[in-house]
Amino acid sequence: MSYFDSLIREVADFPKPGVVFRDVTPLLADAGGFARCIDALAEPWQGSEVQAVCGIESRGFIFGAALAQKLHAGFVPLRKPGKLPPPLVEVAYQLEYGSDRLQARNDALRPGERTLIVDDVLATGGTLAAAQELVLKLGAELVGASVLIELEALQGRSRWPGATPLHALLRY
Ligand code: 5GP
Repeated sequence: MSYFDSLIREVADFPKPGVVFRDVTPLLADAGGFARCIDALAEPWQGSEVQAVCGIESRGFIFGAALAQKLHAGFVPLRKPGKLPPPLVEVAYQLEYGSDRLQARNDALRPGERTLIVDDVLATGGTLAAAQELVLKLGAELVGASVLIELEALQGRSRWPGATPLHALLRY
């Protein structure tokens, strides 16, 4: 078990029966663990001239904002509907049951701005794919994405463009 593994809690049958939820709050609560996690998330992007970090609501805000500071980049929240005032750009995406949307201010990123997307967990990949579409709709340049955890069995990586780097700190 790695240093970070020991700070991720497995919760059986949450949020519904049969699902194993990876709870990242013990890692956030551990001062050294959180700092080392942000260092490790930043490491592949050093020298990549990232200008903006887009964090996906809501746990992507926590890791994304800290990572933006580390990379000397700005932070842009990609939000669920009803949170941001207009004018907005949005992307709709499918969930296992139903659909959802991600939104950003229509001027949240500058044309060609070098942008990194951050979330806590990559599961089926729908959320990250929607974030990628939103960043491109905003006219930015997508440098890549980082997640803390990739749930490999759900094959979310297959929905991410192969030529664009996608880094995961932990894989289960
Ligand atoms: P996807 O769209 O890839 O199926 O789901 C990813 C989204 O669901 C992420 O925004 C993530 O926060 C959330 N998510 C899915 N499974 C888990 C999990 O086991 N733990 C946590 N913390 N978030 C999860």
